Amino acid sequence: MEPFCEACRANFERDPGFFLGSIYFNYGLTALLVAVFYPILLFSGWGSPNALLAGCLAFCLAFPLWFFRYARSLWLGFDLYMDPRGPAPHRGSAGE
Ligand SMILES: [Zn+2]
Repeated sequence: MEPFCEACRANFERDPGFFLGSIYFNYGLTALLVAVFYPILLFSGWGSPNALLAGCLAFCLAFPLWFFRYARSLWLGFDLYMDPRGPAPHRGSAGE
């Protein structure tokens, strides 16, 4: 991961544990998608309840693994939006 954004120099290097907050985005979106699509698919007669349950279980295992990078990005963007910090300091510049 780059230490900062090339375009706006937003700092990507955060304290240990900072990105644990991305779990909120990852879990929240996973739960929201399953809560919305499971009843829709169930009542539309798309498949048997057991097949849908197995599909939802597979989705709940696979989707967060795929989405975790995007969840981290969303968490970082959320933090920068709620607590703007300005650009990262230049490394190797005079004064260090
Ligand atoms: Zn940027």
